[in-house]
Amino acid sequence: MTQPDAVVIGSGPNGLAAAITLARAGLKVTVYEAAALPGGGMRSEELTQPGVIHDVCSAVHPLAVASPAFQSFQLERFGLEWIQPPVPAVHPLDGGHAVRLERDVYATAAGLGADEKNYIKAFEKYVQHVDPLLKDVLAPLHVPLHPWLYARFGLKALHSAEAFVQRSFRTREAQALFAGVAAHSSLRLDAPLSAAVGLMLSIAGHAYGWPIPRGGSQSIAQALVACFKEAGGTLQLNHRITSVDELQDASLKLFDVTPRQLVALCGEHLPRSFRQRLLKFRYGPGIFKLDWTLDAPVPWASPACHETATLHLGGDFAELARSEAQVNQGQIPDRPYVLVAQPSLFDPTRTGDQRHTLWAYCHVPAQSLEDMTERVEAQIERFAPGFRKLIRARHAMNSADIERHNPNYIGGSISGGLMDWRQAFARPVLAWNPYRTPHPRIFLCSSSTPPGPGVHGMCGAAAARTALASLGRVQRTSQKSPGQ
Ligand SMILES: Cc1cc2nc3c(=O)[nH]c(=O)nc-3n(C[C@H](O)[C@H](O)[C@H](O)COP(=O)(O)OP(=O)(O)OC[C@H]3O[C@@H](n4cnc5c(N)ncnc54)[C@H](O)[C@@H]3O)c2cc1C
Repeated sequence: MTQPDAVVIGSGPNGLAAAITLARAGLKVTVYEAAALPGGGMRSEELTQPGVIHDVCSAVHPLAVASPAFQSFQLERFGLEWIQPPVPAVHPLDGGHAVRLERDVYATAAGLGADEKNYIKAFEKYVQHVDPLLKDVLAPLHVPLHPWLYARFGLKALHSAEAFVQRSFRTREAQALFAGVAAHSSLRLDAPLSAAVGLMLSIAGHAYGWPIPRGGSQSIAQALVACFKEAGGTLQLNHRITSVDELQDASLKLFDVTPRQLVALCGEHLPRSFRQRLLKFRYGPGIFKLDWTLDAPVPWASPACHETATLHLGGDFAELARSEAQVNQGQIPDRPYVLVAQPSLFDPTRTGDQRHTLWAYCHVPAQSLEDMTERVEAQIERFAPGFRKLIRARHAMNSADIERHNPNYIGGSISGGLMDWRQAFARPVLAWNPYRTPHPRIFLCSSSTPPGPGVHGMCGAAAARTALASLGRVQRTSQKSPGQ
């Protein structure tokens, strides 16, 4: 068998985006994946009952549809079908009331009473200029293509979610809606930059929706793999790489892993000082994940909750802020912030009959083995009385189970490393080009590089471009020392 020009270790969205970019540039590329299924954080399995499809990790995909990398792959050509629920996200409050994040900024604002004008002021400009903005926001550190827009966005994004809502909104509804979106970050809501995720995901929701893929997130992986194979690539499943020495012949080696794993895999091929910097990378809180098969849809008290696939539970801003602060102080939250997805409401292929699937997770301290089932179900029951009676089967994963499912989820952290103000910019270390390592053939392409977590493939595509640009340097080095 002829040797590949490039190898990619790991078939997550970033590994596959890197592999496609390299293969489309004419390189012979092999992807090695430790698991039996490709996709990393985009795998779907029958977790509870035969024939019932659950998304083990990612479920809702605003960043995938917004991603310039995925757009360029034209994944719909490879069978990917997006389903757009009528409303991107809903945030229920006590008393059967709920706030909607609608596709339309003005419709969202209209549901916010006294904050109508404030909401329009906060989001209108960014949604109108979403494509140029995302080109800058989803790119590594660079001279912005659209400096004005980027600077305005950046100044707001640097704030904490708390400071942002205090400056922007007066109503409990608007503050809760923003908190629910910002809390995806796993940061304390009074931490700098915790507004960034709230802004990004809200803008993406208005511009692109928060869609789900028909058949589950595995369908995104399947489409990426089909795109990769069409470009001539080879995928080897059930093939865990244990050392970079196994990959001697490839000119380029791209790792869809986190810094700690890169150090373990590459050892002394990377200088000691660089390894030490990588080992200082911080991972942040873990998660506790639950999946259910239900006899019927969740009986939400508010009708708005039936119009969306995505819900943020946990009450108002103060309550969510308290839960996220507890997690970040190493405490188990008594009333956790819970992210919920109800895909079968819009995608009948998930069960094929009258049963329904429900997906949820909450944040917990890193490596927590606490069983959060009772607390998560209590939050759902709070906004959907009678929910518990519908449970036919349940599957739970604590932080250790999450890491067993995917070695990139260190301590149950799903973001490839904490996205606080330091690591959002120094990701994985402070460098003009974060995908490079001191070794000319070794590159990092996972969500531990910019722009960070989520299913969008932008880290992988940028890493592949860096690797392609350095091919000349690699070839010159090889001529001098063929063994490198
Ligand atoms: C419960 C949960 C819910 C989430 N929800 C969402 C969501 O709704 N929307 C969203 O956009 N994102 C979501 N995410 C986050 C998203 O899944 C990740 O940000 C994304 O998958 C990161 O992509 P990646 O390519 O960097 O790494 P990963 O997807 O983690 O892929 C890494 C791959 O590398 C493989 N690998 C590691 N080491 C080796 C080795 N030595 N040899 C061979 N293979 C190896 C792993 O098996 C894995 O397949 C969620 C994550 C979790 C866990």
